[in-house]
Amino acid sequence: MDYRVLLYYKYVDIEDPETFTQEHLQFCKDLGLKGRIHIGYEGINGTVSGTVEQTNKYMEAMKQDPRFSDMVFKIDEAEGHAFKKMHVRFRKEIVNLSLEEDIDPNELTGHYLEPKEFFQKMQDHNTVVIDVRNDYEYDLGHIRGAIRPDVKTFRETPEWFLENKHLFEGKTILTYCTGGIRCEKFSGWLKREGFEDVYQLHGGVVTYGKDPEVKGQMWDGKLYVFDERIAVPVNQVEHVVVGRDYFDGEPCERYVNCANPECNKQILCSEENEYKYLRGCTHECRVHPRNLYVKEHGLTDEQIKERLAAIGEEYINA
Ligand SMILES: [Zn+2]
Repeated sequence: MDYRVLLYYKYVDIEDPETFTQEHLQFCKDLGLKGRIHIGYEGINGTVSGTVEQTNKYMEAMKQDPRFSDMVFKIDEAEGHAFKKMHVRFRKEIVNLSLEEDIDPNELTGHYLEPKEFFQKMQDHNTVVIDVRNDYEYDLGHIRGAIRPDVKTFRETPEWFLENKHLFEGKTILTYCTGGIRCEKFSGWLKREGFEDVYQLHGGVVTYGKDPEVKGQMWDGKLYVFDERIAVPVNQVEHVVVGRDYFDGEPCERYVNCANPECNKQILCSEENEYKYLRGCTHECRVHPRNLYVKEHGLTDEQIKERLAAIGEEYINA
């Protein structure tokens, strides 16, 4: 069966979003979709998966609603569902930026650039490109030469930017993110901070990779996505691996979560190193009594001891 993943958002006033959230959850469940949707007073932000028929029905229904009639759906072909469940949640913000004074992108945002315009403009000498995603997203793949804010989450980006303002003074600033929703607010915030020459990649990297002319060129690595696929291709012309294995620094594009459930850190890690390091990011995580790798593989104390000895660590059974 042919499946699809839909990615979409719209900043638009939603009255009584809490009621709409409940109705929308039921609607999605009735259709048989799975995914994650955030709804707030400021709009909707969603990723859902389903069969071609289910996703078509969803898009048609949304387009009947005047609030979402012009909403853009980015469509990816998929082999199956990209989520296990269907969640629709009410959120104060549909992406978490937590500004003291919020930005309404319908009133203030950066100029939109279509993929080809973005591709051309980023090659101007006075242009800086800033990646407004999280660090672990950048580490898997990014626009070649883009600035990587040293942040764990998007809401830290404005503070990081203010501390590193000198990188951007007097420059044309181009922003990009996965689907475009984070740039809507961040580029608006940049304008409010007094930066004039601010542009955003319309439709995000997802759209950039599908553009028939640009074909995702100048993108290195893969695109991090927030569903079970984790990594998807972007550049249709060449594939340069930029991800590096957490343990040995070798090229790697395989994200796993640290097996210590209390840590759960995302690390790039080959299958060989997952085996060697019991999928633990530190010694403490490797020997954690609830290590999920140990549980999944039913390892005995003796086996754990052997694996740790191979990497020069000692196993003291607690
Ligand atoms: Zn860990």
